[in-house]
Amino acid sequence: MTRQVAKILDVPFSTRGFRESVAYMVDRIESGARTHVVTANPEIVMLAREHQDFRSIVEQAYVVPDGIGIVYAAKWTNQPIYERVTGVELLEALMAEADRRRWRVYLLGAHPDVIRLAAEKLTERYPGAGVVGYRDGYFRQDEEEQIVKEIAGKRPHLLFVALGAPRQEYWMAKYRDQLNASLMMGVGGSFDVISGKVKRAPAMWQKLHLEWFYRLLSQPSRWKRQLAIPRFVLTVLREKWSSRSRMHP
Ligand code: UDP
Repeated sequence: MTRQVAKILDVPFSTRGFRESVAYMVDRIESGARTHVVTANPEIVMLAREHQDFRSIVEQAYVVPDGIGIVYAAKWTNQPIYERVTGVELLEALMAEADRRRWRVYLLGAHPDVIRLAAEKLTERYPGAGVVGYRDGYFRQDEEEQIVKEIAGKRPHLLFVALGAPRQEYWMAKYRDQLNASLMMGVGGSFDVISGKVKRAPAMWQKLHLEWFYRLLSQPSRWKRQLAIPRFVLTVLREKWSSRSRMHP
């Protein structure tokens, strides 16, 4: 059996492929277990490396490899991660399960018009799933208690949170025990994509592993955040070489 965890700069990633990850999540939901899913890219790994509080959140979650950088890093360090497991694709696959299994779903985050449209589109496409509530992500801190109560009252099987990373991860970790959600997952800009406001990279760019580049071209203001990618690559390679030289002095 392959190992179920690969460590990339000390962050424990699941080595399951996309299908296996979905099956694992479905099993956990059906068995009543609670799961916090973190779809981690190089930026998240670097944040976990640099902030202890964030690292402990990630360590308690089910972490999947979102971003081709993680797949390459696994290859360079001889670890068995073979494909990306992206947030937007997981969301769709879990919605398809919700459709089949009549799960309750709550959507939190994004602009008011975006989340309304995303809720409409998801309800249309997955009529068996119950979108039991949604709320935009532009709220004040003093509104949080009421939002958490509202979500908890709905007892969602799936809670998708789009507040941007890492804020969404901190938010879910803070309220984890009160939210009453079986599986919660931060989905970044997914509602913008589902609503049609933002386009995902064309399939060919994705195939060529250039989705990150497409995002940089279409949202140039992200360049500062994307500096995490070369820093991540250098850190992984540096650690690999230093562990090699320790092995062969
Ligand atoms: N967002 C939000 N509240 C905020 C800030 C951001 O709901 O206070 C939403 C924003 O509208 C977008 C998502 O969070 O839908 C962040 O998307 P982004 O593409 O930046 O995701 P990331 O790459 O940070 O995960």
